[in-house]
Amino acid sequence: MTAYHIFTPEQAMRFADEHSELFGEHSKLSAAEFGDGNLNLVFRVVNDKGTSLIVKQALPYARCVGESWPLSTDRARIEAEVLQLHARFCPEHTVEVLHFDRELSAILMEDLKQYEILRTALIKGKQFAHLAPQLAHYLANTLFYTSDFVLTGPAKKAAVAQFINPDLCLITEDLFFTDPYCNHERNNIHSLIQDSARALWQDEELKAEVAALKADFLSKPQALLHGDVHSGSIFINEENCKVIDAEFGFYGPIGFDVGSLLGNLLLNYVACPGLFNDTLQGASQQQFLLSQIRTLWQQFAQTFSHLQQTATQDPALQNEHYQVRFLQQVFADAIGYAGCELIRRTVGLAHVADLEKITPAPQRAACEKQAIALGRALIIKRQHLATIDALVQQISQTVAPLPHD
Ligand code: ADP
Ligand code: MG
Repeated sequence: MTAYHIFTPEQAMRFADEHSELFGEHSKLSAAEFGDGNLNLVFRVVNDKGTSLIVKQALPYARCVGESWPLSTDRARIEAEVLQLHARFCPEHTVEVLHFDRELSAILMEDLKQYEILRTALIKGKQFAHLAPQLAHYLANTLFYTSDFVLTGPAKKAAVAQFINPDLCLITEDLFFTDPYCNHERNNIHSLIQDSARALWQDEELKAEVAALKADFLSKPQALLHGDVHSGSIFINEENCKVIDAEFGFYGPIGFDVGSLLGNLLLNYVACPGLFNDTLQGASQQQFLLSQIRTLWQQFAQTFSHLQQTATQDPALQNEHYQVRFLQQVFADAIGYAGCELIRRTVGLAHVADLEKITPAPQRAACEKQAIALGRALIIKRQHLATIDALVQQISQTVAPLPHD
């Protein structure tokens, strides 16, 4: 075992070569650090035939900030183990981990160079019919098979312990649920939406609901979450999509993963009028996103419910009424967490390119205000939006078409 040291491209190259047969004996290898990642080092290692692999290494601090923000390198173990476990239940849509070295906090994985990042594709106005069905399948399978429906009590407790992830959970706890609702120095608020941000800090009704969502995030270990299913963690091409970057994984509320994805589709939805000068293209993209949101929930619920009925091991949890009630609560939770994602990406520390790319600034501010208004409506009304139709109607009602110049 080699003691931890931060990889140079040369060392990442040797690590990849040592742990994969893929390159062949006489390959000429090259490597470069290329990730635009926030927290980690990401290298691409390529041989002279164009075969390539990815090496991702956790630093003892957050890459984007530096040593002043220490972060446990155990996140690499969590990422590798979540991906390996999720791949058991959904190999089609989980990036393949080829090797993990605990001492070096380094993961060797397949290179998804035939794919592009979903956020980038959506910003370009690309539409994929397989997006929602595939991600519904991924979420339903990974979440069901790691839940109490399947695991025995002792196995579940061992799994919860295996994925205790205090450093990364704290980031979510702060950035999702605390900072946006007070005047926190970490917030990043454009000058044109200062008033909307201030209104959030005084909104006691909203803050009570966000407190309830945070309390659930802290204390509802339903399933092994990916923990960061935003559209930058999803790679897509014309046939398939694959999920990467599971370092935020832990046992938490199922609605959090579903809601993070819904929230990211909705961030693009509110950005459409600002991203596309052509009003028709913007409207078509919004229609596409709404239909994907509808399909995502319908197919997630269908698959999860089927698994509940056919694969539940715990005799008490086989009760049909309980199963229906469980899924209904997942829906309400997902709507709430989607709302939190909309708000925190607008006034919190980490923004998204969907909104950041919009110019001029007043146009961007108008879209950001819609994100806040939609986020608020979803958080407050989540227990009353009982069906996917009700959710879609709420989205269309809250997000008014923007005037174009
Ligand atoms: P971080 O956790 O530090 O944010 P990510 O896992 O999100 O790092 O990776 C950062 C970037 O590296 C991604 O946006 C992508 O461009 C690239 N990347 C990561 N994993 C892969 C992969 N398996 N295949 C291709 N590119 C990848
Ligand atoms: Mg990450």
